[in-house]
Amino acid sequence: MSTRNVVLHVADVHKRFAGLHALADIDLQVEEGTIHAIIGPNGAGKSTLLNVCIGRLAPDSGAVVFDGQVITGKQPHEINQMGVVRVFQTPEIFPDLSLLHNVMVPAFAKRDGPFRLNAFQPVWRRTDIRDEAMHWLEDVGLATQSHAIAGSLSRGDKRRLELAMGLVQKPRLLLLDEPTAGMSRHDTNSTIDLLKKFKGRGMTKVIIEHDMHVVFSLADRITVLAQGRIIADGPPDEVRGNPKVQEAYLGGVH
Ligand code: ADP
Ligand code: MG
Repeated sequence: MSTRNVVLHVADVHKRFAGLHALADIDLQVEEGTIHAIIGPNGAGKSTLLNVCIGRLAPDSGAVVFDGQVITGKQPHEINQMGVVRVFQTPEIFPDLSLLHNVMVPAFAKRDGPFRLNAFQPVWRRTDIRDEAMHWLEDVGLATQSHAIAGSLSRGDKRRLELAMGLVQKPRLLLLDEPTAGMSRHDTNSTIDLLKKFKGRGMTKVIIEHDMHVVFSLADRITVLAQGRIIADGPPDEVRGNPKVQEAYLGGVH
C-alpha cells in the first residue's frame, strides 16, 4: 500500500432493503488525488454506496470516514459543506438560466449557504462570484457560450457545465455518477479528456461508470461490486485480468 493519505474510508458498511443485502462487508479506501472507479453490473449496489457516502442513505452498520472525520449520520448538506460534491446522477442544471448564472448559483451557495430561488437577483450583481464562475467556464471550455441558455446545450456540453458547477464548489472529493451515460462516442471522448485535464489538482474523484473504455482510460484504482459485495479491488490491469471480474461483469458486456 502506498503512503498516500486516505480521503474516504467506507468502513465495514452494511445496508439491507427488506430482505435484500444491497451492501455487505463494504470496506473501501480512496487515496488522495486519485481517480477511483466503482464498477459492477446493474443492481450491484453502486448507487446505494454513493448515497451512503453523501448522507442520503444511512447504513445499517459501519461508517463512512471523510478526511479523518466520521460523516455517517450527518445531513447531506453538511457533508457537501465539508467538501464532498456529487455530480451527474440526474441533470441538475437550471435549463432556463444562462451558463454563467448556472455556475454562479453553486458558487454563491458554497460561500454564503443555501438561498431561495427568488433571491437570485442580488446574486447576479456579485462581481466576485461572477468572476469565479467565468473562471470555471473557461476551464471547461464553455466561456464563449457563457450567455447561452443552459437548456440549449448538447449533452456533452451539459456535462461540461455540470462539471463547472461542481468544480466551482472547490470539492476535496468529487463523486461522479456515470458521467458518460447516454453519450455519443464523441461526447464520451471529450468528457474523458476533460476529466483527465482535472486529474489531481488537490481533488480526489470517485467515478461510477458502466463504460469500460472510460474506466480504463481514467481510473488509478478500480473496485468491482457484485450483489452488494466487493469482488475485486486493485489497479486496472490487475482487475482486468481477474477471472471473477470477467465472469461477473466484463464477460457480461456485449
Ligand atoms: P446499482 O447502482 O449498482 O445498479 P443499486 O445500488 O441501485 O445498484 O441497487 C442495489 C440493490 O438494491 C438492487 O437490487 C436494488 O433493486 C436494491 N435497491 C436499491 N435501492 C432500493 C430501495 N430504495 N428500496 C429497495 N431496494 C432498493
Ligand atoms: Mg445505479
